[in-house]
Amino acid sequence: MSDSQFPATGRAWHLVRRPAGWPVPEDFALREVPLAAPAEGSVLVRNRYFSVDPYMRGRMNDVKSYVAPYELDRPMDGGAVGEVVASAAEGFEVGDTVLHPLGWRDYAAVPARHVTKVDTSLAPLSAYLGVLGMTGLTAYAGLLEVASFRSGDTVFVSGAAGAVGSQVGQIARLKGAKRVIGSAGSAEKVRLLTEEYGFDAAFNYKDGPVYDQLKKAAPEGIDVYFDNVGGEHLEAAISAFNVHGRAAICGMISVYNATEPDPAPRNLTQVIGKRLRLQGLLVTDHQDLQPQFVQEVSAWIRSGELVFKESTYEGVEKGLDAFLGMLRGENSGKTLVALPA
Ligand code: NAP
Repeated sequence: MSDSQFPATGRAWHLVRRPAGWPVPEDFALREVPLAAPAEGSVLVRNRYFSVDPYMRGRMNDVKSYVAPYELDRPMDGGAVGEVVASAAEGFEVGDTVLHPLGWRDYAAVPARHVTKVDTSLAPLSAYLGVLGMTGLTAYAGLLEVASFRSGDTVFVSGAAGAVGSQVGQIARLKGAKRVIGSAGSAEKVRLLTEEYGFDAAFNYKDGPVYDQLKKAAPEGIDVYFDNVGGEHLEAAISAFNVHGRAAICGMISVYNATEPDPAPRNLTQVIGKRLRLQGLLVTDHQDLQPQFVQEVSAWIRSGELVFKESTYEGVEKGLDAFLGMLRGENSGKTLVALPA
């Protein structure tokens, strides 16, 4: 057992009521929780960053899905990185920097089998939640494996200024895409896409029908669509697809807070004539790509060929603002909550 000092209590976000439509502050509570020395085989981690992600909205509903719903009146969880402050687990020492699944709190007692050491000489600690973490692997595996990207493809990415989307567009460019087009929800994000991430064209989906804007940006059609949004975006992509087009269906954030089923896409019959492939993607199926992904992406980061942004909220009490802000599109790149050292 090794330990340094830690306080008697920590704070953790609880879900106290299941949201109906858009989540509201009354659905959550930041609770004080007791801290103790870790049990045999566990470590106590002082979190330095935790991640807020769109999939967490799905976990707030009491429905069967690929990941269990959050329990009411229990701490929520999600990706986090931090420093071990007490260890009762072989192989972990105080001061180790680690990645683990117990975010939404400032201190976490985690069984060692769920803890991975991370190398902060390769990249800053926060990067292991974004560009070198779960969202980065989603972009990498979704584009290269699920959408079977090939050099010379024209690629369309929705949610393109977000954590996953900004990386998809850059990987496509680095792997030899003919043309990369992105959509996002503000003029500033559109500027970022073309001026900083190297997209060939971008548009604000709030400026007019997605199909009209996509047609203008991709006059020769698209070969790959990376879907983060669903709804009207997916319908537009189906209409813009060339024969043998491939879509990685990664997320449908436009419907996560919907109370009625979405009517789009209304043009699915085109799947037949164009011989399209629309394939769902779960990042957890692609852990085998992790070493190759980290090696390739960290080299691009070091060479400056791939850039990334983080929207960081300071303090555990800002956890909910960070989550709601991300759902509203106030973020650029990966949304994180930083906890003071
Ligand atoms: P993100 O893109 O960094 O943040 C969410 C973004 O969604 C917001 O910034 C906002 O940007 C956009 N948005 C919100 N409402 C929208 C709407 N009605 N229409 C269009 N855009 C909307 O989040 P992320 O972590 O990178 O995740 C992106 C997508 O990937 C999500 O759908 C998520 O569920 C999915 N995902 C899936 C997997 C998997 O394994 N399948 C893993 C990770 C993420 P704007 O300002 O542009 O609107």
